[in-house]
Amino acid sequence: TVPSEVDRLLETARRLSPRNDVFIDGTFVPALAGRRFDCISPRDGRVLTTIAEGDREDIDRAVQSARAAFEDGRWAKQHPRERRRVLQALARLIEENADELALLEALDMGKPVGDARAVDVRVTVQCFDFYAEAIDKRYDEVAPTDDTTFATITREPYGVVAAIVPWNFPLMLAAWKLAPALAVGNSIVLKPAEASSLTALKLAELAAEAGLPAGVLNVVPGFGATAGAALGLHNDVDAITFTGSGPVGRTLLRASADSNLKEVSLELGGKSAQLVLADATGLENIATSVASGIFFNQGEVCSAGSRLVVHRSRKDELVEHLLRATARMEVGDPLDPDTSVGALVEEKHLHRVLGYIAAATDEGATTLAGGSQARIDSGGYFVEPTIFDDVTPEMTIAQEEVFGPVLSILTFDDIDEGVRIANGTHYGLAAAVWTDSLSNAHLVARALRAGTVWVNNYDGSDITVPFGGYKQSGFGAHDKSLHALEKYTTLKSTWMK
Ligand code: NAD
Repeated sequence: TVPSEVDRLLETARRLSPRNDVFIDGTFVPALAGRRFDCISPRDGRVLTTIAEGDREDIDRAVQSARAAFEDGRWAKQHPRERRRVLQALARLIEENADELALLEALDMGKPVGDARAVDVRVTVQCFDFYAEAIDKRYDEVAPTDDTTFATITREPYGVVAAIVPWNFPLMLAAWKLAPALAVGNSIVLKPAEASSLTALKLAELAAEAGLPAGVLNVVPGFGATAGAALGLHNDVDAITFTGSGPVGRTLLRASADSNLKEVSLELGGKSAQLVLADATGLENIATSVASGIFFNQGEVCSAGSRLVVHRSRKDELVEHLLRATARMEVGDPLDPDTSVGALVEEKHLHRVLGYIAAATDEGATTLAGGSQARIDSGGYFVEPTIFDDVTPEMTIAQEEVFGPVLSILTFDDIDEGVRIANGTHYGLAAAVWTDSLSNAHLVARALRAGTVWVNNYDGSDITVPFGGYKQSGFGAHDKSLHALEKYTTLKSTWMK
C-alpha cells in the first residue's frame, strides 16, 4: 500500500535526532543540573523526545555569554550591512528548512502542518528579511539648536535582551522579537515555552550556521517558574520582551521593580469581538471569516475573534451560514493535510478549555455546535469547534480568554450598545467591524478600544504593520513594523559645544 502523508511525515520525524540541549555561547550543552523534561506531542499524548531543563544557573551562564558578546562588540559594533548579511542568511536557511520546522511545530504544538508551513514559517522568513533590509537604511537625528551647539539623538541597543515567548506560535513569535532586537545590535537570551521548545532550538542551530557570532543568541529551554523567573529577576538583563498571559506579565513587572528596573514590554491576551452591524451584507463571507477568526490554530490565538457581537436583525441568517462554515472545519491529526483544526497544546490546557465549556452551559449559554472533546484516531487532545448562543456580557465565557475553539454569540440593538459590548472586557487586543456604511466603519473603528481594528475582514496582517494591545492586552511598545526597532533601542542625546 502507498504510505499516507501522515506516515511519510512520521517517518521523516523519526529520522530527526536533535539533542535539544541548552544553547549557550554558540554551542549546545547539557543543562548544568543535568535534568531533562519530556516533550509530549499533543497529537497522540506520547513522549516525542526529551529536552534539557534549564534553570537559574543556566540562565546565568546564558546572560554572561550574551553580556560578553555585547561588550566586545562582535555583533553590536559590526557595520549594519554585516548584520543585514547574517540575518538574510538566516532567513534563507529558515526557508531551506521550512518543511522540518513546520513538522516540528505540528508535532510539538499540535497545529496543522500546512498552517505551520503557510503561516508560521513563511512569516518568520519575512520577519528576518524585513528587519535585515531595514537596518542599514536607518538614520539618526540632529536636533535644532543654536549656532554654537550641536546635539545628536542616536538610538543605541539596550545590551542584553531577554525574550520570553508562549507556545501558540513558537517560531513566529520568537522571530517577531529576535529579528528587530538582533538587527539593532542586542545580544539575546530566549526562553521558549516549555510546551513547545523544538523550533526555537532549531532556530539557534540555524543562526549559528548563518554566521551569527557565538553568544549573541542563547536559547535556554525550561520552565517559567524557574528559568523564566530567573530571567525576570536577573540584574544583568537590560530589557525583557514578553508575550504570554497577563498574570505572568505582572510577575515580570514586579521582578523588574525588585531587581534592576529592566525595561519590560508585554504582549498579553485578548477577548476580541467581531461586531456585525445591521447594514452589513455578504453574510456568508462574514460567517466564513468569523469561523476562521476563531477556529484557526484551534482558537489558540491571542487575537482570536472569540466573541461574535451581532445586530439582532441579522443574527439568524448569520448563524445559519456560520454553522455551515463550522461544519466544514475538519478536526484531526495535525499531520493530516486535510485537517483545519488540530490538537490543543497539552492535556492540562484541554481540561482548561473543557472547563470553560462547562461553565458556559452552567451559566445559561445555549450550545449551537460542538461542546465536547473530539475523538481522533491518533489519540491526543482535541476539542470540537464550539459555538454558544444566548451569551450575555457578564458571563465568564464572554469575559475570560478561553484560548481554545470556542465562540460566544452576543446580540445588540443599536450601534452604541454593540460598541459597548465589544469594548466591555479588560482586554483590548483586536476587534473587527462588518458594515456597508463608510461612515459607520469610521465611527466604529475609532470607538473600538483595541490595538488592531479590522474593517470588513479579520485577517489583515503584515510584518510592516505594528501589533500590540490596549488596556490589559499590552504594556509598552508593540511588535512588528519599523516601530519595533524603537522597542529594542534607547535614546542617547549628545551635546557638543
Ligand atoms: P504563559 O504566560 O503561561 O507563558 C508564557 C511564557 O512565560 C512561557 O515561556 C512560560 O514558561 C513563561 N513563564 C511562565 N511563568 C513565568 C514566570 N513566573 N516568570 C517568567 N516567565 C514565566 O502563557 P502561555 O500559556 O504560554 O500563552 C498563552 C497566553 O499568551 C495567552 O494569554 C495569549 O493571549 C498570550 N499571547 C499573546 C500574544 C500577543 O501578541 N499579544 C500572542 C500570543 C499569545
